[in-house]
Amino acid sequence: MRVNEIFYSLQGEGRYTGIAAVFIRLAGCNLQCDFCDTRHESYTELSEDEIVRQVVVYPARHVVVTGGEPTLQLTGSLVDKLHEAGKFVQIETNGTIELAPGLLSGIDWITCSPKTFSVKIQRIDEIKVVYRGQDMTRYEALATTCGGMRSLQPCDENDPERSAANLSAAIDYIKAHPEWRLSLQTHKIINIR
Ligand code: SF4
Repeated sequence: MRVNEIFYSLQGEGRYTGIAAVFIRLAGCNLQCDFCDTRHESYTELSEDEIVRQVVVYPARHVVVTGGEPTLQLTGSLVDKLHEAGKFVQIETNGTIELAPGLLSGIDWITCSPKTFSVKIQRIDEIKVVYRGQDMTRYEALATTCGGMRSLQPCDENDPERSAANLSAAIDYIKAHPEWRLSLQTHKIINIR
């Protein structure tokens, strides 16, 4: 499996914000978003057992498999091995890839941050929209269909003025649509990984 990095930090975004988590960042992505802020291309080839050995060094139960796009590589057997080690497995995905039934049922929490409207993943526990003031009609429809928790996350534009405008627009949207909640990239605010 091509692993970009494994590191220990706090989950900075979405439903599990603030809890200690081990992050497995798998290399590569099938999309090229212009706001992508992860360097996910470089990798070390690791077996599933080697990944688990690196994860269990840390005391946290929560594991986040992210990327890049983790579903390009994630397997049901890795999820099973993480469960056997007592871990809870969350993935952060763009939702463009349909998952095999065994893998789908094994993952404990699926956070989908759709970047296109071609969403094929069969289950979404949390939809997390990166918000730049775009038309929300199709995200609303997707959120209604999937029935998951709704998080709106202002896009970090690497430009304080534009990022502040996204935050302000997200607050306004949530006040008008209170079924959404604000997700901030708190790891950036407190300057941790
Ligand atoms: S889907 Fe995510 S990881 Fe892939 S390019 Fe877009 S922002 Fe980056």
